[in-house]
Amino acid sequence: MIGQSLSLRGITKNYERICAVHGTDLEIGAGEFVSIVGPSGSGKTTLLTMIAGFERPTTGSVLIGDVDITGLAPNRRNIGMVFQKYALFPHMTVRKNLEFPLRMRSKAARSDIGARVDAMLDMVQLTKLGHRLPHQLSGGQQQRVAVGRALVFDPPILLMDEPLGALDKKLREAMQLEIKQLQRRLGATIIYVTHDQEEALTLSDRVAVMHNGRLEQIGQPFELYANPNTAFIADFVGTINFIPGVIVGDERDHSLVRLAGGPVVKAAKRAKAPVGSAVSVAARPEHIAISATPGTEQTSLPGTVEAVVFSGAHRVAHVRLKAMDGLTVRVTLAGETSIPSAGEPLTLYLSPDRLQLFSAQTGRRL
Ligand code: ADP
Ligand code: MG
Repeated sequence: MIGQSLSLRGITKNYERICAVHGTDLEIGAGEFVSIVGPSGSGKTTLLTMIAGFERPTTGSVLIGDVDITGLAPNRRNIGMVFQKYALFPHMTVRKNLEFPLRMRSKAARSDIGARVDAMLDMVQLTKLGHRLPHQLSGGQQQRVAVGRALVFDPPILLMDEPLGALDKKLREAMQLEIKQLQRRLGATIIYVTHDQEEALTLSDRVAVMHNGRLEQIGQPFELYANPNTAFIADFVGTINFIPGVIVGDERDHSLVRLAGGPVVKAAKRAKAPVGSAVSVAARPEHIAISATPGTEQTSLPGTVEAVVFSGAHRVAHVRLKAMDGLTVRVTLAGETSIPSAGEPLTLYLSPDRLQLFSAQTGRRL
């Protein structure tokens, strides 16, 4: 089946003491792959269970296409769901697990059960294992059964709640690829919850970031990375350094910021905040240089290398700054540079076009 669009309109969920989800609006297009990321307890699962129908929103509505399904029972929503803990029936074979959602549904779905299960076993590459019980399968195979069970009734929308969280890194990456390929083949709309921002950036058309029950920003992966609305998003999506400072003036289109106990730097833009405002100056590790570019307006910050960390694709130096109470910042070392070692002095160079400002009070981008 081709994917359908999904709308959340002013969705709120209050439990007795707490508000797990605050008035949230979200529009997801047919066939779109949207990830929901955020720290533990930020409301991701609650949002998903309201879409699936296991929880009723306190206020607001859920629509598939333009049909309001807020009051509909889960098994009448035509939405597939995959959980982190697989939730397979332990006493049923793989085949019976896949048959189950078809038997739970309408008469129409119950025709051709055998053929549909065969096709799904083939799709998730478990044809030879249909007779096994879940405990006789590896974690990755169990997860493929869970995905197959969610897809067997051909839902236009598939919800996945940390589906790969229990798998090791290698298997997780292989399964990510399989999910992506399945989606391309089926055209289903996927809403994918993960606390792993890297996974979200890799898989998704758009990423929605939740924080304290609010949807703080939604956008294409690069958009979130390049133009985060808040310091929280900047920090959650990728790696970033924050250096505290105070706005001391401006120069044409740029704010001037005195770093705490350090020099004055020029920000990329003029901040919408008055002189005297406390700010965080933010710079990604790959946006800080360790050698000067002649003819540019860089600010130099002397420091000492604390450690150099190898992360597979590149190295990252942790540099303790002389000023700013010995704050440590992370700097990506490009391939061609000679690698400094711990204890060596190293001067960092900040360029105005790379520095974003966030309010120290509200965390909003200025
Ligand atoms: P996440 O999936 O992002 O980790 P959850 O949606 O599970 O977050 O939880 C959001 C908040 O709502 C948490 O504070 C959690 O303790 C609370 N919560 C979730 N489910 C319930 C429930 N059934 N009753 C009371 N509080 C709940
Ligand atoms: Mg959760």
